[in-house]
Parts: sequence; structure tokens; C-alpha cells
Amino acid sequence: MNEMILLKLGELVLKGLNRRSFEDKLQANIHRRLNGLGQFRVYTRQSTTYVEPMNADCDMDGAWEAMKKVFGVVGLSRARSCEKDKDAILAACREYLDSQLHSAKTFKVETKRADKTFPMTSIQVSQYVGGELHEAYDNLEVDVHHPELTVYVEIRDYAAFVHADPEPGAGGLPVGINGRAVSLLSGGIDSPVASWMIAKRGVALEMVHFFSYPYTSPEAKEKVLELARLLTPWCGRLTVHVVPFTAIQEELRRSCPEELFTIIMRRFMMRISQEVAKRCGAKALVTGECLGQVASQTMEAMNVTGAVAALPVLRPVVGLDKEEIVQIARKIGTFETSILPYEDCCTVFTPRHPRLRPILTEVEAAEEKLDVDAMVQAAVEGIERVQV
Ligand code: ATP
Ligand code: MG
Repeated sequence: MNEMILLKLGELVLKGLNRRSFEDKLQANIHRRLNGLGQFRVYTRQSTTYVEPMNADCDMDGAWEAMKKVFGVVGLSRARSCEKDKDAILAACREYLDSQLHSAKTFKVETKRADKTFPMTSIQVSQYVGGELHEAYDNLEVDVHHPELTVYVEIRDYAAFVHADPEPGAGGLPVGINGRAVSLLSGGIDSPVASWMIAKRGVALEMVHFFSYPYTSPEAKEKVLELARLLTPWCGRLTVHVVPFTAIQEELRRSCPEELFTIIMRRFMMRISQEVAKRCGAKALVTGECLGQVASQTMEAMNVTGAVAALPVLRPVVGLDKEEIVQIARKIGTFETSILPYEDCCTVFTPRHPRLRPILTEVEAAEEKLDVDAMVQAAVEGIERVQV
């Protein structure tokens, strides 16, 4: 095949001795994302991963889109391979990069020569190809310092290839390299963004969703599953643990002071999520909480909800403005689904005057009437697991 995708790996410098596991994890993730798009050969040399189609049936456009969403990749380009011969290289440039060569005003050629037996030096190749292209395209001037277009020529052991400037990749670290976390996924805008941000740091996710049927509708649940599906091109396959939450909410409404309802409900969410974490070996919880956004998101409230969690609670959007969160949601493709108008369990029995600055001892006293362990246990036993 004469076209392939080159992926530039990120943050390897930081990882030092972990380089090998970084590359292995990334390669496994890439293979998984290419599933269903055809047969590809994937291999890594010198901080570049090569994705090479093995036959003409491969969906190269699909692979290109999929590779843009792989964490651990900082830049990617589509490249054309050709014979290791200066005129074959030139012809490949003219054919493959023709439209870019036509529209740029300035350019340069940069050659990397891994095959040291090739009869020309890198500089000679750049000069030859650059000179010929300059002559062939009237619009082009050479600018070695700030060219609009850089034509890359790479000469490897088995072939040469040419490509233009890389596009930015998804960045971050390969999913799975930093362990596993449980993410609390509501149907809102914030929690899919929070999940994405933590996955980006190399964390594999398990999703937990609290579902209050019949107060919330099957459509509300379907919306959350759809949000999880939209995250899979970035995070890989996900399990959504759908927790029946109605019984707990009804019990809290019966026996807790109204103004503490939300905060106590959120403590139950934490406890149940932690149980899920224990069962799947997760080492942290993730929420889409944002400082000051609503009553349950003051520092005091976070302290009271966090107090029941022995695991760290990661809140990656805590310091972002709504507009900044929306921007990320649009970029990752979850926004349009998040704004569909289905109610979340948090809006069921919402107190008229929720306590903004809850006091831990007071909340603990209000919970004394409850059989907390039994309530958590019953909810955990009722979990429905959905693979997306
Ligand atoms: P979001 O936009 O993520 O829904 P929000 O601004 O509406 O957040 P809250 O409803 O107070 O804020 O929820 C705060 C966080 O609690 C959410 O980001 C999410 O992580 C978690 N959460 C809320 N409701 C649910 C639910 N039904 N299932 C799972 N997690 C939830
Ligand atoms: Mg919400």
C-alpha cells in the first residue's frame, strides 16, 4: 500500500523508563480503535508509530479520524510511500502534496535519512527535491525559517515516504497507563467533559449513572448511555453501571431535613461509586463538579460529600468557567446530546433552599436514622451493567 498514517508520540521524555509500557499500551489502544476498519500493520520506531494498511480494503479516512482521538499522540500526518529513488520521491511529492504545493507561498523540504546506505545525504535530497519543486510551482518561494509548508521526506530501510506538516493529535497519555477510575456520569454537560479530561491523562474509566425511574424517564437513561458511547472513540469501550437510585431518594425525602437532602444524596452517590470502584480495582472517583456552579458545589459541600470517600475525588473541571467547559464539550462531540432536555436524578425532590454551607457533624447526625450500609448494599446489588 502506498499510503500510511504517521503518529508522533507525546510525553515520552517525561516517562523515562516507562517508555516501553507507554508504547505497548498505545499500540494496543491503536489496534483496538482500528477494529472494523480493515487490516493494518502498526509498529513504532523512534517516537513515531506507523499505521500501515495491509490491503486496499482498509478504510483510510476512517482510520485517520480514529487516530485523531487516540490519547498519547501529539501529532499525525498522512504519508505516501514510494521507491527509494530521488525522482520517485519527487514524483510522490508532486502527486501527493499537489494541492498544498499549489496553495502555499513559501516552503522548505526537510529530509530524514534512517537508511545510511542511501547514496545521497539528507541535505542533498532536500536540495534536489526543493529545487525541482521550486521550479515546478510558480507560486512557491523557499523559506527555511518560517515556511508555510514543510515537505517532509523520510528515507527508511524498506521505503521512502513523503508527507506535509502534521496535524495536532489528541495529546495526553495512552488510556490505561495510569490505572482505572470510576466516573460519575450524569446527563449534563460537565461530567462527560470531566471524564474525557481524566481519560486524557491515561486513565481507563468505568462509568456510574444514578437512575431514578420512574421520576426520570427511560429516555434520560438512554441519553446517558449515548453520552458514554460518544466518549468511546476517546476512552475505548466503556461499562456503564446503572444504579437504581429511587429507593434511596424516597427514603431520604421521608427521613432527612429538606435542606440537607441534596448533600446527603450526594454522599450516597460517593459511597455507591466507591463500592463500584472497589469491585473493579479503580483508584479514584471522578465528578464534573465545578466550584460555585450550584449549591452542592461550594467548598463546604465538597468537603462534606468528599468525607465519605476514602479514594481521591478528581474534579478536573473544578476551576473552569461554564463557557470553557462548553467549548471542550463541543470539541469532543458531547454537547448536543448533553443539552437534550431530559431531567437528571438530581432534579428530583430538589429542596427549595438547599444548605450552601453544610456542616459535617450536622449531616452525619441526620444520617444516623438511616441504615446507610443496607441502603448502599441494596443499590449496589441492583446495578445493571451496560457495555457501550
Ligand atoms: P453535570 O453537567 O455533569 O450534570 P451539574 O453541573 O449538573 O453537572 P450536579 O448535577 O450537581 O452538577 O452534579 C455534579 C456531579 O455529580 C456531576 O458532574 C456528576 O459527576 C455527578 N452526578 C450528578 N448526577 C448524577 C447521576 N445521575 N449519575 C451519576 N453522576 C451524577
Ligand atoms: Mg447534572
